[in-house]
Order: sequence, then structure tokens, then C-alpha cells
Amino acid sequence: MKGAYDVLVVGGGPGGALAAKAAAEQGLSVLLVEKRPAIGAPVRCAEGIGKEALAEFIDPDPKWIAADLDKAVLIGPDGTKFTIGGEHAGGKVGYVLDRKVFDRELVWQAAEAGAEIQVHARASAPIMINGKVSGAVIHQHGKTYEVRAKVVIAADGVESKFAKWAGINTTVPLAELETCAQYIVNDIDIDERANLFYFSYTDAPWGYIWVFPKGHRCANVGIGIAGTKSGEGHRAKDYLDRFIAREFPNGKITELIVGGVSVCKPLECTVADNLLIVGDAARLSDPITGGGIYNAMYTGRLAGEVAASALKKGDTSKKALMVYDETWRNGHLGHALARNYAVKEAFIKMDDAKFNSIVHSMTDLSLDEITVKSLVIAIFKANPWLALELPRLL
Ligand code: FAD
Repeated sequence: MKGAYDVLVVGGGPGGALAAKAAAEQGLSVLLVEKRPAIGAPVRCAEGIGKEALAEFIDPDPKWIAADLDKAVLIGPDGTKFTIGGEHAGGKVGYVLDRKVFDRELVWQAAEAGAEIQVHARASAPIMINGKVSGAVIHQHGKTYEVRAKVVIAADGVESKFAKWAGINTTVPLAELETCAQYIVNDIDIDERANLFYFSYTDAPWGYIWVFPKGHRCANVGIGIAGTKSGEGHRAKDYLDRFIAREFPNGKITELIVGGVSVCKPLECTVADNLLIVGDAARLSDPITGGGIYNAMYTGRLAGEVAASALKKGDTSKKALMVYDETWRNGHLGHALARNYAVKEAFIKMDDAKFNSIVHSMTDLSLDEITVKSLVIAIFKANPWLALELPRLL
């Protein structure tokens, strides 16, 4: 590890890996530090991603694809199912990744592009000079180093502290922090080509349960519930245990993970002097699904490119870096996050009867009609009360 770099990336998840790769490809000296001893482990993710979304960054490789999906099935509180995809998906829909391998591949690509990678290396504080981020204090193998950088990219995930240490308010309200638990369950009867989403506030208050296949008779089975709905005897794991006992009583559990997902609005501003904030650290996971792999990769790459361009011009002030914030916020990602936040706010006011009503109206559609527009129109037609609860979508 040297004492100074053009770019320091804090965090070796998908956001950090894409940021480091993009910056190194522009010929910058880049250091990526990851606090854990191994990239990608332990996994804190259900590992689902859309095929088209992933194709923006990387060609699919069987070594990190655990399941190739051709449909998603939404299941209402009374068990009514609605399938999206299937024979009408034209080879699209998504994958369940093997993130232990996938995350390593992304970081390896950053290294191939010229970035230096250091694992078991934790950033514990920013170096601030004249109120501006100028690097970080790094702890590794019992030693402490000062690493100077012209630009720091905070990609330290949902538990992010770097931006907060630099003076940015990153607080997630408890009601908007989904607390999650997930098992890998083996020896179960599943459709290995379908992701299942169970919507029922009785089973998962202000959240949902997922069953994402991971190959032959194996799946990630998990739950997210609002932090404010969690308590003694009704934590995420308690709800999940009840679901497993009901749906997969003979399943063999081989892994348990717990984690948090923010479903709040993004940070008000994702840049400061010499600092860019990406992915979960910027609170960019989807407010409805909690999905954030794509969002992290997209903003990570953009941040790396903006850092490179700013460094070439010799100006890494907040004003110069604002193009990063404006680009993601005013583009497809920002619009989707704003729309989905409004939908999430309406969803949490609903109850199981309303969910049943929505899923029933979806099952009346013929499969040929399934476009986002036709789906929205049909749902609103069958559920006129939604127009009051979701006016911003009309
Ligand atoms: P992360 O992947 O969290 O990477 C951040 C990295 O920074 C970590 O490796 C961490 O160790 C490191 N770090 C933190 N602090 C420091 C420090 N001080 N110094 C050095 N390193 C540090 N998303 C989907 O798209 N699909 C899903 O199916 C899905 N399922 C999920 C299920 C669960 C239970 C959870 C919890 C999340 C799920 N997500 C899912 C969300 C997804 O995992 C994240 O959105 C995604 O990993 C964000 O990428 P990131 O690079 O921003 O952060």
C-alpha cells in the first residue's frame, strides 16, 4: 500500500468494484480497501438481478450464475398467484447469482484494469484538510496507515459510516430500514426457473418473503420486515421460521444470514468536496424490492468516470463532482427510485384484503397484455381506490 493515490475506494462490493474499475481504466492510480478478509463473503443478499440490467455491465458467466430464471411469481395473501414472464419473456427475466464468486469477479476486473486491492483493510476515519476529504485512515493486520487521495469514493454499503464521518447526514429512519433474515434451504420442491414473492402483511409486515432458487432443490428463502415492526418473538427470523415450517417443513437449512436494507429516499446530495457516495452507502436500494446490486454497479461506474474526468480537469470540488449526482438523479435510476418510493409509501398503508384485490385483478389479464402500461391501467381500473392512494402514478 502506497501513501497516496488519485482515487481511494472504500468497500469491495459491486459499487466499489465498478468504481475502481472505471477509474483505473482512465489511467488513474486507484486503491480499493475492503474491511472483510474475503471479497463477497459472507453474502448478505438474495442474489437476484434482471438479465437486461446485468447486461449493461458484464456478460453472463456460468461460474457465477446459480439459477437462470424465466419468470417471477407474485403470491397474494390468500395464495392467488400471478406470473410475469414464462413463455412470453423472450429469454429475459433474470438470474440468481452466486455472489461469492460474482463479487470476486468484479473486483478481479478492477484489479486487471490496474486498481490495487487490499482486503482486511478497514477505513476508520477520513483525513480532513481544510474541511475537505483528503484520504482515509486504514487499519490492516494490526497496523494503521494514512492514505491520501485526491478523490474518495464511499462504497461501504448499508452500514456506511464514511460519508457520515465526513459530515453528511446518512441516517435511515427505523421504519425505512428493512430487517432481513435468509436461509439457504435444501431438498425442497421448487420451480428452479421461478422467483417467488409472497406479499402478506400477516406473514411479513411492511415487507415480503422471497424464494429465489439456487439450483437443484435449493433456494434462498428470506424475509424483510420494517424495523419498527420487529420485536421480541416477532423478529424477521421468527416470521421466517413460521413460513418455513408451513411451506418447507422438510427442508434442510444450511446457512442463515441477517442484514439490513434501506427503503428510504436517497441521500439529499451524494457528493462533497473530493467525495462521491455510491450504492447502498448513498441509500440507493429500491424502496419496493430492496434490490440494490444494479443501482450500486450503475452509480459505482458513473462515480469512477466522473472522478477521472474531474481529476483530468484538476477540479474535484463539490461543484465539479455534482455532475455525478445530477446524472443518476435526473436519469432512469432517479426516476425509478422516486416512483417506487411513492408506491412503497402507498403499499405500507394497505392491508391483506387490498393486496388480494390487486392480485385478483392482475390474474384477469391475458398474458399477451403484459406490459407495464397495460398492467398499471388494468390494476387501476379494477381497484379505483388506488387512484386516491397512488395519485402520483396517474
Ligand atoms: P455492499 O455490497 O454492501 O458492499 C459494501 C462493502 O463495503 C462491504 O463488502 C463491506 O464489508 C465494505 N465496508 C464497509 N465499511 C467499510 C470500511 N469502513 N472499510 C472498508 N470496507 C468497508 N439486491 C439485489 O439487487 N437483489 C437481491 O436479491 C437482494 N437481496 C438482498 C437480500 C438481503 C437479505 C439483503 C440484506 C440485501 C439484498 N440486496 C439485494 C441488496 C444488495 O445486497 C445491495 O444493494 C448491494 O450489495 C449493494 O452494493 P454496494 O456495493 O453498495 O454495497
